[in-house]
Amino acid sequence: VIGDVRYVAPESVSQATAVLAADPGAVVLGGGTWVLPQLVRRERRATVIIDTARLGLTGIRRDGDGLRIGAAVTYSSLAGSELVSAEAPLLTRMAAGITGGVQLRNQATIGGAACYAIPSSDVPACLVALGAELELHSSAGGNGADVRRVTADAFFLDAGRTQLRPGELLVDIVLPSQPRPWGYQKLKLSEGSWPIATAAATPAGGSDVAITLGGVATRPLRITVHNEEEIAAAVREQLSDPWHDVLASAAYRRRVAPVIARRALAEMQQVAT
Ligand SMILES: Cc1cc2nc3c(=O)[nH]c(=O)nc-3n(C[C@H](O)[C@H](O)[C@H](O)COP(=O)(O)OP(=O)(O)OC[C@H]3O[C@@H](n4cnc5c(N)ncnc54)[C@H](O)[C@@H]3O)c2cc1C
Repeated sequence: VIGDVRYVAPESVSQATAVLAADPGAVVLGGGTWVLPQLVRRERRATVIIDTARLGLTGIRRDGDGLRIGAAVTYSSLAGSELVSAEAPLLTRMAAGITGGVQLRNQATIGGAACYAIPSSDVPACLVALGAELELHSSAGGNGADVRRVTADAFFLDAGRTQLRPGELLVDIVLPSQPRPWGYQKLKLSEGSWPIATAAATPAGGSDVAITLGGVATRPLRITVHNEEEIAAAVREQLSDPWHDVLASAAYRRRVAPVIARRALAEMQQVAT
């Protein structure tokens, strides 16, 4: 107990979800790079902190469903995984390009980034681009576990808002094998800053290309085009309410979104030739 906050480090997902179900003031701790500063600044309150460190969620493996990545896998582990670079190279590039230095990449988890769902994060749009599914566990009150799978596209609702319900824990992220060729580009203010806009280009069947934009709206934005010429109109049509933060205004993001999308498409086409 620290002050009036209890700290628990359960050793199974069912123990963790039981604590989550019992206490509406429970806060899940991934790497803590976002939630701990919030608690310290008193922007968020907790009655109990549930540490995910001992839950065994740091594995990366292939099973019948695809590539299964534990919620507590760090950016460094993602970037260093041969399995990830073989099955989902977009994720390798994304993880290696996260700023904040080696300390941040060693500590912050992909699950924490997904649940936090800040629009200017690299993670939500990459998970949508890859057709990821998020496996959410909750306690069914003595009847074992409730497990549901939500596609990344449905998971991210708005700035900081996801499909995660009270009492639910993100356990795994499941990815199908990544379509090739692909491109991933981003725009940042400086080498060390968060992205202003990201774009992932992947084939979408026939001559269609899916471009998933991050950072430009409150949730990932997916456009489908045949060629570069269609990008500007598709962005104009779908980007009705651009995101704004200290890094860039909504007007700036509206202007750069098609530029970054074109760069991702060009990278994809370059690899293809
Ligand atoms: C200096 C700095 C630079 C950064 N640069 C970038 C960047 O370039 N690109 C980028 O995308 N991001 C960047 N980030 C953000 C970083 O990606 C996030 O801080 C980090 O991924 C959050 O992960 P975490 O494990 O620390 O989450 P935590 O802080 O532990 O948790 C975040 C939220 O998720 C919840 N949560 C965590 N795990 C689970 C779970 N398994 N189930 C349910 N809920 C859970 C927590 O309760 C909390 O609400 C940066 C951050 C810093 C501090």
